[in-house]
Amino acid sequence: MKNAADVIIVGGGVIGSSIAYNLLNDGYSGKIIIFERDKVYEYASTPRSAGGIRQLFTTDINIQLSRFSLQAYQTFPETMAVDGEHAEIDFKQRGYLFLATEEMLPRLEKHQMLQQKYGVPSQVLTGNELLDIVPELHIDDLAGGLYCAEDGYLDPYSVMQGYIRCAKKLGAEYIYEDVEMILSEQDVITGVRLADGREYRAPVVVNCAGAWAPALSGKLGLPLPVVPLPRQVFQFDVVQPLQKYLPLTIDPTGVYFRHEGEKLIAGYAEEREPGYDFTWKRSYFIEQLWPVLARRIPNFEQAKIERGWAGLYDFNTADHNAILGRHPGKKGYYVAFGFSGHGMQQAPAVGKGLSELIRTGKYETIDLTPLRVERFTENDLIIEDAVV
Ligand SMILES: Cc1cc2nc3c(=O)[nH]c(=O)nc-3n(C[C@H](O)[C@H](O)[C@H](O)COP(=O)(O)OP(=O)(O)OC[C@H]3O[C@@H](n4cnc5c(N)ncnc54)[C@H](O)[C@@H]3O)c2cc1C
Repeated sequence: MKNAADVIIVGGGVIGSSIAYNLLNDGYSGKIIIFERDKVYEYASTPRSAGGIRQLFTTDINIQLSRFSLQAYQTFPETMAVDGEHAEIDFKQRGYLFLATEEMLPRLEKHQMLQQKYGVPSQVLTGNELLDIVPELHIDDLAGGLYCAEDGYLDPYSVMQGYIRCAKKLGAEYIYEDVEMILSEQDVITGVRLADGREYRAPVVVNCAGAWAPALSGKLGLPLPVVPLPRQVFQFDVVQPLQKYLPLTIDPTGVYFRHEGEKLIAGYAEEREPGYDFTWKRSYFIEQLWPVLARRIPNFEQAKIERGWAGLYDFNTADHNAILGRHPGKKGYYVAFGFSGHGMQQAPAVGKGLSELIRTGKYETIDLTPLRVERFTENDLIIEDAVV
């Protein structure tokens, strides 16, 4: 039948594309259509991400998701090669480093114990040990830090393109149109209606529309506690280069920074009103971030801001974590959004998990039920202590 599929995915960013790829790679033989309204991904969150990949989470589920995903990223160039061409993603395993004051350190020690349960090689470092990693660091106010050498950062756009290329190669169809509505009849999903009025039928629709997903779900009568939340990233250069490449480093204030090529980038989870706002302000860097950066690393005193950008978190206001799986409100409706700033480091595991759930009706590799939709009504929230 024309205009019909077995699975429709709304949103062809890293999450939707990972789900499509995993389904097909796992042997799914049905027809998959991905609707993506922005062919150049200008406003999608994926290309605007800072690309940080860390296992330093504080809940069982997030640690498992990140560990699986990190391992997938380590072999991504080869496993996602198409026609012999490697899918390069520039994954730099330079570590992740949470800097801690005296007061913060006991909490990080507790987190480390949980991380090690899953095989994450995280280490609690003393103040002086921090200098082995970042020799220029100002440590007077620091008691130490939590470090994981395996972690790092990558190029999010290349990851997304890797998934898209492989999904297409395996038979997924990308249609560059705007989905206006997910359709249902008597609590059973029937497909989608596009902005131009055309309808496509499918018994399964997966909402992966990122920061736009909650609006689509709301139109279906199934609102979820997720809002679009603007986040800024700034790129700057310094006169005096650092001795070593930086891990993605998080200051006790929450300001984070890392190398981007030979330059640096920095960001911060500032208080913002929710909304679709893509403006970034040089003055924000100069007034808010620069003083923190310059105090932490003297080389940053002479920083020249070069550019910036803003992107959206699909921010889960209830517990700041992804919402994954079947929605109990409509048969055939699946969700994968609410990543709250950690979707890049979960994309491979989420793709695998949703593939299992859609194909077999249950999770096999990692049990993703802690992130189910029902947790909000059951008051079984997943409280993550390390959201950046
Ligand atoms: C500034 C910033 C820094 C970040 N840093 C990190 C980080 O360091 N590490 C990390 O793990 N994560 C980070 N993230 C989060 C990460 O980028 C996201 O969690 C991830 O990219 C989400 O992918 P997605 O596919 O769900 O969303 P998106 O990439 O936004 O994809 C959703 C797609 O859906 C499409 N769409 C929306 N509505 C419709 C519709 N109605 N019809 C058709 N198509 C539609 C959109 O055009 C979009 O392309 C960051 C995000 C931002 C903004």
